[in-house]
Amino acid sequence: MEITVPSLLRIKPDALFKIGKYLRTEGLSSIALFFGEGIRDLFERTIRISLESSEINVVHEEIVTDNAIEKVFESTFAIPGKARAIVAIGGGKAVDYCKYIAFLSHLPVISIPTSISNDGFASPVSSLLVQGRRKSLKTVIPTGVIVDTAIIKNAPSHYVLSGIGDLVSNITAVRDWKLAFKNSGEYVNDFSVLVSLNAADNVINHPTHDITDTGFLGVLSGALVMSGVAMEIAGTSRPASGGEHLVSHAYDKLAKTPSLHGIQVGVATILAARLQGERVEQIIRVLERCGFIDLVRSRPLDRADLVRAIEEAPYIKENYYTIFSEKEKREEARDLLENDPLLKELAV
Ligand SMILES: [Zn+2]
Repeated sequence: MEITVPSLLRIKPDALFKIGKYLRTEGLSSIALFFGEGIRDLFERTIRISLESSEINVVHEEIVTDNAIEKVFESTFAIPGKARAIVAIGGGKAVDYCKYIAFLSHLPVISIPTSISNDGFASPVSSLLVQGRRKSLKTVIPTGVIVDTAIIKNAPSHYVLSGIGDLVSNITAVRDWKLAFKNSGEYVNDFSVLVSLNAADNVINHPTHDITDTGFLGVLSGALVMSGVAMEIAGTSRPASGGEHLVSHAYDKLAKTPSLHGIQVGVATILAARLQGERVEQIIRVLERCGFIDLVRSRPLDRADLVRAIEEAPYIKENYYTIFSEKEKREEARDLLENDPLLKELAV
């Protein structure tokens, strides 16, 4: 088994100023540069100065506006042969796009997220449109991850809260993976489990959950990178994606107004943890302290849509046993959404 992990890893305030230096150290002197929509205007000056001062040549440049797989193919063939790496600066869409180019072109990809709303910036999975439908495709884990925690701090707070929701789901995802082993003998990779749970526990046990604290944001970013690594080790998204993710995917399809991935996943994680009967208080405590619960209270999910999503969850992925595969647990979930004092405030 060959496992790749990000070898260039910088998580600190003002890391973006040093991007040229980091690339130079890795010997990546000519790059294809991709920006998410609206991102170039925000950071162009900083990036240009940094790249120029380290003599990094930009041989191709694009703004990612679309995440259709046909566009990914076009971009892959548009990159000149002299490019030594792909650099993706932006939110999830730009990074997912570039990871797939890296997968096709065998070039290393450096992921520079401007928000950390989910674990996608360091995972081996790309969410792309295939024939108009959103698909999670297996791809490569980034060779480099650069997180400028000062930029993350300045992004709207619901992005970070969404990232925390996505991270705590590792707890219920791992439980579901073990449940799948019991029910269908699905192979569980113990090391991947250790990495995934440690990542979540680093944040759960952190003394503060202050999302304006760059120290905490650094720990959270590192934990999300470890989630990506856990998926790479397992060769599946199992360590960071269980039944709570299936509910969120179903909600994306059904809801009139879906929320951010990690927000939906966070709510579904509370629900799944209640059904599994494990670590519920710990999960709720973190989500309360960071402001996640207050945010969802002010912008709750749609209960009727969530109930339908729970029913739909077992059909989202084939051969993917989770707590929501069990009919009586789905009934219990419905009951909790109507009667549990906290859950009934999060989905109305
Ligand atoms: Zn996720």
